[in-house]
Amino acid sequence: MTATVILKPGRESRLGLGHLWVYAGEIAGVDGHVEDGGIVDVRSTRGRWIGRGFINRKSTLTVRLLATRPEEIDRGFFQRRLRDAIAYRARVIDGTSAYRVVYGEADALPGLIVDRYGHVAVLQTLALGMDVRKGMLVELIDDLMHPAAIFERNDSGVRRLEGLDSRTGWLRGQAPPDFEIHEGRARFLIDIAHGQKTGFFLDQRENRLAVGRIVKDAEVFDAFCYTGGFAVHAALGGAKHVTAVDISDDAVALATRNGERNGVDERCTFLVANVFDELRRQVGTGARYDVVILDPPAFARNKDALPRAIGGYKEINLRAMKLLRSGGILVSCSCSYHMDETLLTDVVASAASDTHRTVRLMERRGQARDHPVHPAMPETRYLTCLIAQVV
Ligand code: SAH
Repeated sequence: MTATVILKPGRESRLGLGHLWVYAGEIAGVDGHVEDGGIVDVRSTRGRWIGRGFINRKSTLTVRLLATRPEEIDRGFFQRRLRDAIAYRARVIDGTSAYRVVYGEADALPGLIVDRYGHVAVLQTLALGMDVRKGMLVELIDDLMHPAAIFERNDSGVRRLEGLDSRTGWLRGQAPPDFEIHEGRARFLIDIAHGQKTGFFLDQRENRLAVGRIVKDAEVFDAFCYTGGFAVHAALGGAKHVTAVDISDDAVALATRNGERNGVDERCTFLVANVFDELRRQVGTGARYDVVILDPPAFARNKDALPRAIGGYKEINLRAMKLLRSGGILVSCSCSYHMDETLLTDVVASAASDTHRTVRLMERRGQARDHPVHPAMPETRYLTCLIAQVV
């Protein structure tokens, strides 16, 4: 008998709209025995069946729903969901060898991330219920994706919230951890073992390609450049020169090699520096650019951090505007769910007002299509990329 989680009165409405999370505070009780990581049915106070998912009492996000129709949660279930996810990417992905194959909740596979980098698959199990099924998932990924090797990148901090430890390593086969992928015309060396996220910011792919199309003959400043994603696309798109800055030595070392690999190193300067200092310094020296890209890390990791974070976003956007020539283009990103499109637009508007500039938004972009958004789960839409002309 499957154990049943009974909700407190009225707590089923969000789930009824398609949200997949049940928080600890919404649960009245659990009928029957179930180990953490096991499958439970979720019912309303009156006993109406809502869905089935896995439970983890160590997490405030106690149940993640897998099915909202009566379905057995067995190997066949995960196989069908993985097949759907793979089929969707086959339709929307083109011209790149690196993309996200499974994006957790948005693919109805809560807590599971699978990225493809050429012949290598990288796996993250960020929920206990997925972690305890890792062996089966690896077999299915092997069967359905046929990668040469599968790497586990389970060192994300969010695993702690699930009571899970940090671990990385090969689960199947082996490959050099750093190798080349391509994205449109660009080639990038990535490091799946040590790089940020699973090695590359796949979510920014379409925004990098978009920027590559609006930089002809431009002098470009790429702030928070990591391994040179925007910088290389800008140079390949015909930029006159790109200055790119990141605080990480390793990222800048790889960015420099990426510039060389793409034959654009003569038009790219990669610097190790703190962007806040470098922006201030360049404004001070009277430097001017035609395009400024701001792709900072998430300044607001939670809601409490938001007021302070807004100050950070404001500062970099303000200085970026000071660096822009009249008619120049600002590419301003936030990868924090809490700093959403509305708030980032407000920051850009207020930075424009403070610097007496006029801004017109050209594009309001989000994460690439391999990171689709679950319409009932705003948490799955975390990336904003505003492209604006600054006059
Ligand atoms: N645009 C990149 C991704 C940027 S991720 C791409 O398309 O691949 C954010 C980057 O900001 C990280 O590489 C991190 O090292 C860097 N970073 C964080 N704080 C910084 C700071 N204060 N100054 C400079 N770089 C910083």
